[in-house]
Amino acid sequence: MNKIWVFAEQVECSLDRVVLELLTKAKELAREMAGETEIAAVLLGCNVESLVESLGKYGADKVYLAESEELKLYNPSIYAPIITELVKEEDPDIFLFGATAIGSELCPTIAAQLKTGVAAHCIDMNINKDGKLVATVPSFGGKIVGEILCPDTRPQMASVKPGIFIQGEEEEREPLVEKVEVNINTENLPLKAISLNKKEIKGVPLDKAEIVFCGGFGLGNKENWEKLERLAGLFGGAVACTRPVVDEGWAPGEHLMIGTSGKSVRPKVYIGFGISGATHHVCGIKDSGLIISVNNDEKAAIFEISDIGIVEDLNKVLDQLLLKFS
Ligand SMILES: Cc1cc2nc3c(=O)[nH]c(=O)nc-3n(C[C@H](O)[C@H](O)[C@H](O)COP(=O)(O)OP(=O)(O)OC[C@H]3O[C@@H](n4cnc5c(N)ncnc54)[C@H](O)[C@@H]3O)c2cc1C
Repeated sequence: MNKIWVFAEQVECSLDRVVLELLTKAKELAREMAGETEIAAVLLGCNVESLVESLGKYGADKVYLAESEELKLYNPSIYAPIITELVKEEDPDIFLFGATAIGSELCPTIAAQLKTGVAAHCIDMNINKDGKLVATVPSFGGKIVGEILCPDTRPQMASVKPGIFIQGEEEEREPLVEKVEVNINTENLPLKAISLNKKEIKGVPLDKAEIVFCGGFGLGNKENWEKLERLAGLFGGAVACTRPVVDEGWAPGEHLMIGTSGKSVRPKVYIGFGISGATHHVCGIKDSGLIISVNNDEKAAIFEISDIGIVEDLNKVLDQLLLKFS
Protein backbone atom coordinates (compact mmCIF):
# COMPACT_ATOMS: atom_id res chain seq x y z
CA MET A 1 0.00 0.00 0.00
CA ASN A 2 1.22 3.53 -0.82
CA LYS A 3 1.50 5.93 2.08
CA ILE A 4 1.23 9.72 1.92
CA TRP A 5 1.86 11.60 5.15
CA VAL A 6 1.09 15.18 6.09
CA PHE A 7 2.62 16.93 9.11
CA ALA A 8 -0.36 18.24 11.10
CA GLU A 9 1.18 21.49 12.31
CA GLN A 10 -0.69 23.03 15.22
CA VAL A 11 -0.03 25.82 17.67
CA GLU A 12 -2.10 26.03 20.86
CA CYS A 13 -4.38 23.30 19.51
CA SER A 14 -5.20 25.23 16.34
CA LEU A 15 -4.26 23.60 13.04
CA ASP A 16 -2.42 25.71 10.50
CA ARG A 17 -4.63 26.16 7.42
CA VAL A 18 -1.88 24.63 5.27
CA VAL A 19 -2.53 21.22 6.90
CA LEU A 20 -6.04 21.03 5.45
CA GLU A 21 -4.76 22.29 2.09
CA LEU A 22 -2.08 19.58 2.07
CA LEU A 23 -4.55 16.85 3.03
CA THR A 24 -6.74 17.95 0.11
CA LYS A 25 -3.73 17.78 -2.21
CA ALA A 26 -2.75 14.40 -0.75
CA LYS A 27 -6.17 13.02 -1.80
CA GLU A 28 -5.51 14.27 -5.33
CA LEU A 29 -2.06 12.61 -5.37
CA ALA A 30 -3.57 9.39 -4.00
CA ARG A 31 -5.95 9.29 -6.97
CA GLU A 32 -2.95 9.58 -9.33
CA MET A 33 -1.10 6.68 -7.69
CA ALA A 34 -1.61 3.10 -8.80
CA GLY A 35 -3.06 0.79 -6.14
CA GLU A 36 -4.34 1.56 -2.69
CA THR A 37 -3.04 4.64 -0.89
CA GLU A 38 -3.36 5.52 2.78
CA ILE A 39 -3.22 9.18 3.81
CA ALA A 40 -1.96 9.80 7.33
CA ALA A 41 -1.54 12.94 9.42
CA VAL A 42 1.27 13.18 11.97
CA LEU A 43 0.06 15.17 14.97
CA LEU A 44 2.30 16.12 17.89
CA GLY A 45 1.29 18.25 20.85
CA CYS A 46 -0.30 18.27 24.29
CA ASN A 47 -4.06 17.68 24.57
CA VAL A 48 -4.54 17.90 20.82
CA GLU A 49 -6.68 14.80 20.24
CA SER A 50 -9.67 17.06 19.44
CA LEU A 51 -7.95 17.93 16.13
CA VAL A 52 -8.21 14.34 14.88
CA GLU A 53 -11.80 14.91 13.69
CA SER A 54 -10.82 17.79 11.35
CA LEU A 55 -7.87 15.83 10.02
CA GLY A 56 -10.23 12.98 9.13
CA LYS A 57 -12.76 15.27 7.49
CA TYR A 58 -10.14 16.70 5.15
CA GLY A 59 -8.59 13.40 4.11
CA ALA A 60 -6.61 11.57 6.82
CA ASP A 61 -7.38 7.84 6.93
CA LYS A 62 -5.04 7.55 9.90
CA VAL A 63 -3.62 9.92 12.50
CA TYR A 64 -0.33 9.20 14.25
CA LEU A 65 -0.82 10.98 17.56
CA ALA A 66 2.07 11.82 19.89
CA GLU A 67 0.94 13.62 23.04
CA SER A 68 3.01 14.78 25.96
CA GLU A 69 3.59 17.87 28.12
CA GLU A 70 7.04 18.11 26.45
CA LEU A 71 5.35 18.58 23.06
CA LYS A 72 3.22 21.54 24.16
CA LEU A 73 5.60 24.07 22.60
CA TYR A 74 7.28 23.27 19.29
CA ASN A 75 10.92 22.32 19.73
CA PRO A 76 12.86 20.82 16.78
CA SER A 77 15.14 18.90 19.17
CA ILE A 78 12.08 17.01 20.45
CA TYR A 79 9.77 16.93 17.42
CA ALA A 80 12.36 15.85 14.81
CA PRO A 81 13.65 12.65 16.50
CA ILE A 82 10.10 11.45 17.26
CA ILE A 83 9.01 11.92 13.65
CA THR A 84 12.25 10.51 12.24
CA GLU A 85 11.81 7.30 14.27
CA LEU A 86 8.19 7.02 13.16
CA VAL A 87 9.19 7.37 9.50
CA LYS A 88 11.85 4.66 9.94
CA GLU A 89 9.22 2.31 11.37
CA GLU A 90 6.40 3.04 8.92
CA ASP A 91 8.27 3.89 5.71
CA PRO A 92 5.92 6.41 4.01
CA ASP A 93 6.39 7.12 0.29
CA ILE A 94 5.61 10.85 0.46
CA PHE A 95 5.77 13.27 3.40
CA LEU A 96 4.38 16.80 3.05
CA PHE A 97 4.94 19.83 5.28
CA GLY A 98 3.67 23.40 5.28
CA ALA A 99 6.48 25.81 4.39
CA THR A 100 5.70 27.76 7.56
CA ALA A 101 8.28 28.91 10.10
CA ILE A 102 7.93 25.54 11.86
CA GLY A 103 7.68 23.37 8.73
CA SER A 104 10.60 25.11 7.01
CA GLU A 105 12.81 24.05 9.90
CA LEU A 106 11.34 20.65 10.74
CA CYS A 107 11.05 19.26 7.21
CA PRO A 108 14.76 19.59 6.21
CA THR A 109 15.88 18.57 9.72
CA ILE A 110 13.99 15.28 9.43
CA ALA A 111 15.11 14.84 5.81
CA ALA A 112 18.75 15.25 6.88
CA GLN A 113 18.29 12.68 9.66
CA LEU A 114 16.76 10.26 7.12
CA LYS A 115 19.27 11.15 4.37
CA THR A 116 16.51 11.88 1.89
CA GLY A 117 15.66 14.94 -0.20
CA VAL A 118 13.25 17.88 0.15
CA ALA A 119 11.65 19.95 -2.58
CA ALA A 120 11.12 23.23 -0.72
CA HIS A 121 8.44 25.82 -1.47
CA CYS A 122 6.64 23.84 -4.18
CA ILE A 123 3.98 25.54 -6.22
CA ASP A 124 2.52 22.29 -7.57
CA MET A 125 2.85 18.53 -7.25
CA ASN A 126 1.79 15.50 -9.21
CA ILE A 127 2.59 11.82 -9.67
CA ASN A 128 4.42 10.76 -12.83
CA LYS A 129 3.87 7.57 -14.82
CA ASP A 130 6.47 5.75 -12.66
CA GLY A 131 4.47 6.59 -9.55
CA LYS A 132 7.03 9.14 -8.31
CA LEU A 133 6.30 12.55 -6.84
CA VAL A 134 7.09 15.43 -9.19
CA ALA A 135 7.41 18.69 -7.25
CA THR A 136 7.26 21.94 -9.20
CA VAL A 137 9.50 24.66 -7.79
CA PRO A 138 10.52 28.08 -9.20
CA SER A 139 14.28 27.90 -9.81
CA PHE A 140 17.21 30.13 -10.83
CA GLY A 141 15.74 33.25 -9.27
CA GLY A 142 12.30 32.35 -10.61
CA LYS A 143 13.40 32.50 -14.26
CA ILE A 144 12.41 28.88 -14.83
CA VAL A 145 10.03 26.50 -13.16
CA GLY A 146 11.85 23.27 -12.33
CA GLU A 147 10.57 19.78 -11.61
CA ILE A 148 12.22 18.09 -8.64
CA LEU A 149 12.19 14.32 -8.16
CA CYS A 150 13.64 12.23 -5.37
CA PRO A 151 14.09 8.96 -7.26
CA ASP A 152 16.17 6.81 -4.90
CA THR A 153 15.46 7.66 -1.27
CA ARG A 154 12.27 7.64 0.79
CA PRO A 155 10.20 9.40 1.81
CA GLN A 156 9.90 11.92 -1.00
CA MET A 157 9.55 15.11 1.03
CA ALA A 158 8.18 18.49 0.03
CA SER A 159 7.09 21.75 1.64
CA VAL A 160 4.36 24.07 0.39
CA LYS A 161 3.43 27.59 1.48
CA PRO A 162 -0.04 28.16 2.94
CA GLY A 163 -2.47 29.32 0.26
CA ILE A 164 -0.82 27.56 -2.69
CA PHE A 165 -3.36 24.72 -2.68
CA ILE A 166 -7.05 25.10 -2.06
CA GLN A 167 -8.68 23.47 0.95
CA GLY A 168 -11.32 20.98 -0.22
CA GLU A 169 -14.76 20.21 1.12
CA GLU A 170 -15.28 18.27 4.34
CA GLU A 171 -16.19 14.58 4.09
CA GLU A 172 -17.37 12.21 6.78
CA ARG A 173 -14.36 10.07 7.69
CA GLU A 174 -13.33 8.72 11.07
CA PRO A 175 -9.60 8.21 11.01
CA LEU A 176 -7.82 5.42 12.78
CA VAL A 177 -5.75 6.86 15.63
CA GLU A 178 -2.38 5.30 16.30
CA LYS A 179 -0.74 6.55 19.48
CA VAL A 180 2.98 7.21 19.28
CA GLU A 181 5.03 6.67 22.41
CA VAL A 182 7.06 9.69 23.50
CA ASN A 183 10.32 8.70 25.17
CA ILE A 184 12.48 11.79 25.04
CA ASN A 185 15.04 12.77 27.61
CA THR A 186 14.71 16.56 27.74
CA GLU A 187 17.62 17.01 30.19
CA ASN A 188 20.48 17.84 27.85
CA LEU A 189 18.71 19.25 24.83
CA PRO A 190 20.51 22.03 22.93
CA LEU A 191 17.26 24.04 22.71
CA LYS A 192 14.55 24.69 25.25
CA ALA A 193 11.20 26.25 24.30
CA ILE A 194 10.25 28.52 27.19
CA SER A 195 7.15 30.40 26.10
CA LEU A 196 5.09 31.43 23.11
CA ASN A 197 4.79 35.18 22.56
CA LYS A 198 2.49 36.25 19.76
CA LYS A 199 3.29 39.34 17.72
CA GLU A 200 0.26 41.52 17.17
CA ILE A 201 -0.28 42.35 13.50
CA LYS A 202 -1.88 45.74 12.87
CA GLY A 203 -4.43 46.40 10.11
CA VAL A 204 -6.27 43.96 7.87
CA PRO A 205 -4.52 40.56 7.76
CA LEU A 206 -3.04 40.02 4.31
CA ASP A 207 -4.61 36.61 3.76
CA LYS A 208 -8.10 37.93 4.60
CA ALA A 209 -8.00 41.24 2.68
CA GLU A 210 -10.32 41.68 -0.30
CA ILE A 211 -8.06 44.34 -1.78
CA VAL A 212 -4.27 44.21 -1.61
CA PHE A 213 -1.95 47.13 -2.39
CA CYS A 214 1.43 45.63 -3.18
CA GLY A 215 4.63 47.64 -3.45
CA GLY A 216 7.71 46.57 -5.41
CA PHE A 217 11.28 47.82 -5.70
CA GLY A 218 10.02 50.48 -8.11
CA LEU A 219 8.58 52.32 -5.07
CA GLY A 220 12.11 53.63 -4.65
CA ASN A 221 11.82 54.79 -1.03
CA LYS A 222 10.06 54.43 2.32
CA GLU A 223 7.93 57.54 1.71
CA ASN A 224 6.18 55.79 -1.16
CA TRP A 225 5.65 52.73 1.04
CA GLU A 226 3.93 54.98 3.58
CA LYS A 227 1.75 56.40 0.81
CA LEU A 228 0.78 52.84 -0.10
CA GLU A 229 -0.16 52.18 3.55
CA ARG A 230 -2.35 55.31 3.56
CA LEU A 231 -4.04 54.21 0.34
CA ALA A 232 -4.70 50.71 1.71
CA GLY A 233 -6.21 52.30 4.84
CA LEU A 234 -8.57 54.42 2.71
CA PHE A 235 -9.89 51.33 0.92
CA GLY A 236 -9.94 49.01 3.96
CA GLY A 237 -7.33 46.89 2.24
CA ALA A 238 -3.98 45.39 3.21
CA VAL A 239 -0.46 46.32 2.16
CA ALA A 240 1.97 43.76 0.80
CA CYS A 241 5.36 43.81 -0.87
CA THR A 242 8.02 42.00 -2.86
CA ARG A 243 11.36 40.73 -1.52
CA PRO A 244 13.47 43.86 -2.25
CA VAL A 245 11.02 46.05 -0.32
CA VAL A 246 11.64 43.93 2.79
CA ASP A 247 15.41 43.92 2.15
CA GLU A 248 15.46 47.72 1.81
CA GLY A 249 13.63 48.04 5.13
CA TRP A 250 10.75 50.03 3.61
CA ALA A 251 8.17 47.43 4.70
CA PRO A 252 8.04 46.42 8.38
CA GLY A 253 8.78 42.73 7.81
CA GLU A 254 8.59 39.50 5.86
CA HIS A 255 5.05 38.84 7.08
CA LEU A 256 3.92 41.27 4.34
CA MET A 257 5.89 39.61 1.54
CA ILE A 258 4.04 37.75 -1.21
CA GLY A 259 5.62 34.91 -3.16
CA THR A 260 7.35 31.57 -2.85
CA SER A 261 9.16 32.64 0.34
CA GLY A 262 6.23 34.73 1.51
CA LYS A 263 2.46 34.45 1.47
CA SER A 264 0.03 33.36 -1.24
CA VAL A 265 -3.03 35.56 -1.50
CA ARG A 266 -6.36 35.43 -3.33
CA PRO A 267 -7.89 38.91 -2.89
CA LYS A 268 -10.72 40.16 -5.09
CA VAL A 269 -8.38 42.94 -6.27
CA TYR A 270 -4.55 43.07 -6.27
CA ILE A 271 -2.90 46.36 -7.25
CA GLY A 272 0.86 46.22 -7.76
CA PHE A 273 3.09 49.30 -7.92
CA GLY A 274 6.60 49.04 -9.40
CA ILE A 275 6.70 45.24 -9.58
CA SER A 276 8.53 43.50 -12.44
CA GLY A 277 6.62 40.19 -12.32
CA ALA A 278 9.26 37.65 -11.24
CA THR A 279 7.90 34.08 -10.92
CA HIS A 280 8.88 34.02 -7.24
CA HIS A 281 6.38 36.82 -6.62
CA VAL A 282 3.74 36.06 -9.24
CA CYS A 283 3.09 32.52 -7.98
CA GLY A 284 1.74 34.11 -4.79
CA ILE A 285 -0.90 36.22 -6.58
CA LYS A 286 -1.90 34.05 -9.52
CA ASP A 287 -5.33 33.18 -8.08
CA SER A 288 -6.29 36.79 -7.31
CA GLY A 289 -9.50 38.14 -8.85
CA LEU A 290 -8.57 41.33 -10.68
CA ILE A 291 -4.86 42.07 -11.11
CA ILE A 292 -3.97 45.72 -11.75
CA SER A 293 -0.34 46.73 -12.29
CA VAL A 294 1.42 50.07 -12.45
CA ASN A 295 4.86 50.00 -14.06
CA ASN A 296 6.71 52.56 -16.18
CA ASP A 297 8.23 49.80 -18.35
CA GLU A 298 5.68 48.67 -20.91
CA LYS A 299 7.63 45.42 -21.41
CA ALA A 300 7.48 44.43 -17.70
CA ALA A 301 6.50 40.75 -17.29
CA ILE A 302 3.86 41.67 -14.71
CA PHE A 303 1.67 42.98 -17.54
CA GLU A 304 1.44 39.44 -18.99
CA ILE A 305 -0.61 38.30 -15.99
CA SER A 306 -2.43 41.60 -15.35
CA ASP A 307 -6.07 42.26 -16.19
CA ILE A 308 -5.38 46.00 -16.24
CA GLY A 309 -1.92 47.41 -16.95
CA ILE A 310 -1.05 51.06 -16.34
CA VAL A 311 2.20 52.16 -18.01
CA GLU A 312 2.99 55.16 -15.86
CA ASP A 313 5.31 56.54 -13.20
CA LEU A 314 3.95 55.14 -9.93
CA ASN A 315 4.75 58.40 -8.10
CA LYS A 316 2.16 60.12 -10.23
CA VAL A 317 -0.45 57.36 -9.79
CA LEU A 318 0.01 57.13 -6.01
CA ASP A 319 -0.31 60.91 -5.56
CA GLN A 320 -3.38 61.14 -7.75
CA LEU A 321 -5.13 58.26 -5.99
CA LEU A 322 -4.40 59.78 -2.57
CA LEU A 323 -5.62 63.18 -3.74
CA LYS A 324 -8.84 61.73 -5.11
CA PHE A 325 -9.75 59.39 -2.24
CA SER A 326 -8.38 61.19 0.86
C1 LIG B 1 14.80 31.44 -3.79
C2 LIG B 1 14.17 32.78 -4.04
C3 LIG B 1 12.96 33.06 -3.44
C4 LIG B 1 12.34 34.28 -3.67
N1 LIG B 1 11.14 34.52 -3.08
C5 LIG B 1 10.52 35.68 -3.32
C6 LIG B 1 9.24 35.95 -2.76
O1 LIG B 1 8.66 35.16 -2.02
N2 LIG B 1 8.65 37.12 -3.06
C7 LIG B 1 9.22 38.06 -3.88
O2 LIG B 1 8.61 39.11 -4.12
N3 LIG B 1 10.43 37.83 -4.40
C8 LIG B 1 11.10 36.69 -4.14
N4 LIG B 1 12.32 36.48 -4.69
C9 LIG B 1 12.93 37.57 -5.47
C10 LIG B 1 12.37 37.61 -6.88
O3 LIG B 1 13.04 36.68 -7.70
C11 LIG B 1 12.49 39.01 -7.50
O4 LIG B 1 13.83 39.44 -7.42
C12 LIG B 1 11.59 40.05 -6.82
O5 LIG B 1 10.25 39.58 -6.75
C13 LIG B 1 11.61 41.35 -7.62
O6 LIG B 1 10.90 42.32 -6.92
P1 LIG B 1 10.36 43.61 -7.64
O7 LIG B 1 9.47 43.23 -8.78
O8 LIG B 1 9.80 44.49 -6.58
O9 LIG B 1 11.70 44.34 -8.13
P2 LIG B 1 12.32 44.49 -9.58
O10 LIG B 1 12.41 43.19 -10.26
O11 LIG B 1 13.56 45.28 -9.40
O12 LIG B 1 11.25 45.37 -10.37
C14 LIG B 1 11.00 46.71 -10.12
C15 LIG B 1 10.01 47.19 -11.17
O13 LIG B 1 9.64 48.52 -10.87
C16 LIG B 1 9.50 49.23 -12.07
N5 LIG B 1 9.67 50.66 -11.76
C17 LIG B 1 10.81 51.29 -11.38
N6 LIG B 1 10.56 52.60 -11.15
C18 LIG B 1 9.23 52.79 -11.39
C19 LIG B 1 8.38 53.93 -11.34
N7 LIG B 1 8.82 55.14 -10.95
N8 LIG B 1 7.07 53.77 -11.68
C20 LIG B 1 6.58 52.56 -12.08
N9 LIG B 1 7.37 51.45 -12.14
C21 LIG B 1 8.67 51.56 -11.79
C22 LIG B 1 10.58 48.68 -12.98
O14 LIG B 1 10.24 48.88 -14.34
C23 LIG B 1 10.59 47.21 -12.59
O15 LIG B 1 9.77 46.44 -13.45
C24 LIG B 1 12.96 35.26 -4.49
C25 LIG B 1 14.18 34.96 -5.10
C26 LIG B 1 14.78 33.74 -4.87
C27 LIG B 1 16.10 33.46 -5.52
